Amino acid sequence: MTATHSTRMLILGSGPAGLSAAIYGARAGLAPIVVQGIQPGGQLMTTTDVENYPGFKDVIQGPWLMEQMQAQAEHVGAQMMWDTIVEVDLSQRPFRLIGDGGTIYVGDTLVIATGAQARWLGLESETRLRGQGVSACATCDGFFFRGKKVAVIGGGNTAVEEALYLTNHTHDVTLIHRRDSLRAEKILQERLFAHPDIKILWNREVVAFVGGEGQTGLVALDLRDTVSGAVERLDVEGGFVAIGHHPATELFQGHLDLDDDGYLRVEPGSTRTSIEGVFACGDVMDKVYRQAVTAAGTGCMAALDAERFLAAADFEEESAKAVLARQA
Ligand code: FAD
Ligand code: NAP
Repeated sequence: MTATHSTRMLILGSGPAGLSAAIYGARAGLAPIVVQGIQPGGQLMTTTDVENYPGFKDVIQGPWLMEQMQAQAEHVGAQMMWDTIVEVDLSQRPFRLIGDGGTIYVGDTLVIATGAQARWLGLESETRLRGQGVSACATCDGFFFRGKKVAVIGGGNTAVEEALYLTNHTHDVTLIHRRDSLRAEKILQERLFAHPDIKILWNREVVAFVGGEGQTGLVALDLRDTVSGAVERLDVEGGFVAIGHHPATELFQGHLDLDDDGYLRVEPGSTRTSIEGVFACGDVMDKVYRQAVTAAGTGCMAALDAERFLAAADFEEESAKAVLARQA
């Protein structure tokens, strides 16, 4: 028989956004159910040192932080489900979602916290050296490359912002772009071109990330000139891939409003999506900040928005019942 789980607050995703929503939802008495997805704990499970999550003087480990968040959410009453949602019906409330094995989840409100994944170039050497000099987040990892030579790959806003950010840590930043013009906003381009610590290599693509002796960390990039075909080696110890992100929103296409980059649209200053009772938080709705603490912050907002929505809906229902009772 197919299992059905019903809750006042159904949360998709168990990264910092989903678990923060769960903590607030549970403490508001909404007994949330968290469907964890294929990556319980989210993106921070794939990293080691986290130095910028407030509250910890010493460096903490990403997986440890997420274990703590899950334990806190469970302690206050959230229920974790090891499942992945494959189908959604948001046409009426309560919302009905179906898990991988057919389990049905029914939620009076839905909080979407399915995150976003960085796009990678797809090179074998890139995968091998990820976390050993190759990163997709300068804000997260730039600090570890103080005074070292680093490169950023890409030509959009993210790449330019990451290159500028890295100059806080080093005087030797190279931006590598596959074409001869950037797609980043003009103001960012102006700052980039004016910066004395950044040089730009146009018309270059990375053909390999080169590891050191004994496969230690990154020591260089092999670059191909897309015009002449010539291959050159650039010595760097940090390689930041900034070629875009992929928000996990396939499930919601045709159900909820997405922006041109596929992120869930929310009303500015809130987590309300295009359907009443559905809220979005974390990287799935944020293409600018993409940090654990901002994801946790918007997770809190989503739970508060959901709680207020339910309180208003309950009040309307009670008022309607009272009117009917008076008329009877
Ligand atoms: P995510 O953490 O991406 O979590 C998404 C969740 O949704 C996952 O649990 C997934 O299983 C679930 N999910 C997806 N699809 C479904 C589905 N269909 N059904 C159910 N569940 C689903 N930020 C910092 O602030 N500091 C750092 O030092 C830092 N380092 C980082 C290092 C790395 C290597 C990476 C990749 C990121 C790092 N970040 C860091 C960024 C940070 O991890 C993200 O901003 C944050 O995790 C976003 O949280 P989120 O909850 O929105 O989404
Ligand atoms: P993006 O705008 O899609 O830019 C991706 C860049 O990576 C492009 O320059 C692209 O090159 C390059 N690229 C893609 N695939 C590549 C590959 N396989 N090899 C080499 N280069 C590749 O992504 P983004 O910069 O992450 O920005 C995404 C969205 O978020 C945008 O809407 C952006 O405006 C927004 N954003 C806004 C802010 C802000 O407002 N401050 C900050 C960050 C991001 P081509 O140019 O040749 O296609």
